Amino acid sequence: MIIGIPNALLNIKYRDAIQEFFQNIGVTTFVSPKTNKEILDLGVLNCVDEACLPVKVFHGHVEYLRDRCDFILVPRIMKLQKNEFICPKFCGLPEMIKYSLDIKNIIAPTIVAYDNKTLKKSLYELVKPLNIKKEKFEKAFEAFKSNLYKYRNLDYKNSDLKVLLLGHPYLIYDDFINMNIIKKLKAFGVSVYTEDNVDFYDYTYRLIKKPFWTFLRNTYNCAISLIETGKIDGIIYVSSFACGIDSFSIDLIKKDIGSFPYLVLKIDEHTGEAGIDTRLEAFVDLLKRRAKNEYNFSTLG
Ligand code: SF4
Repeated sequence: MIIGIPNALLNIKYRDAIQEFFQNIGVTTFVSPKTNKEILDLGVLNCVDEACLPVKVFHGHVEYLRDRCDFILVPRIMKLQKNEFICPKFCGLPEMIKYSLDIKNIIAPTIVAYDNKTLKKSLYELVKPLNIKKEKFEKAFEAFKSNLYKYRNLDYKNSDLKVLLLGHPYLIYDDFINMNIIKKLKAFGVSVYTEDNVDFYDYTYRLIKKPFWTFLRNTYNCAISLIETGKIDGIIYVSSFACGIDSFSIDLIKKDIGSFPYLVLKIDEHTGEAGIDTRLEAFVDLLKRRAKNEYNFSTLG
């Protein structure tokens, strides 16, 4: 039996751990390639127009895997933090895939994983139909935990100009969707921080209400922490058109940071690379001018 793993949404971050978990219980996996034009087109063609770009891209990866494996893993990720949720589109992803693609061979485990116990329970439910021996599962689970943070670590210590790149991991780590933004920033001589390579504190007490979306809480806390500690010169927020959660977090951050340099890049399947390049270049120029002139310029230049 071969289980296909779509290389999109949060699988981008946890793919190595998932793959090794299945390998340890004796199941072969097949990961779809990095997003490319063919996969994007498959996604756009087979998904509803109103969906955000990452969900369309996920559809493309599933369609790519359809005839290449026996089952495709489409997790229903509900919670990764206690009393919080990920995003409604993650909760309904298996249904979206099933009905948009008219596909039956999907495995759709419900993932509630805010501590060791809930994570273990979710993974056990996933492999229960395979009648795996308890000892084998325990070993695979321990390996899964130790591989959870194997995803890309960025080098951010090599430049005087530092930018926080905010956005959901599947936008930040998918070079095709984000048009190689990290590489471009490095070429401009900018060091890049992301949520995954910094520690941040909880500043949500400043908000009227504690957010119940994990993504929103993380991006808000990360932005405010790095500004408060003076670690960055600017923020670039990569956001997908039609993302409901970003429509809140972008404005909540903006409201709190005053004139701190803040660039929001909204992307969808039609976004042209030249437009992104121009805006990045202009933003980096602005940061350089502010640094040179001791921040006497406004964020508008
Ligand atoms: S958080 Fe936003 S970008 Fe991510 S799946 Fe939900 S709507 Fe799409």
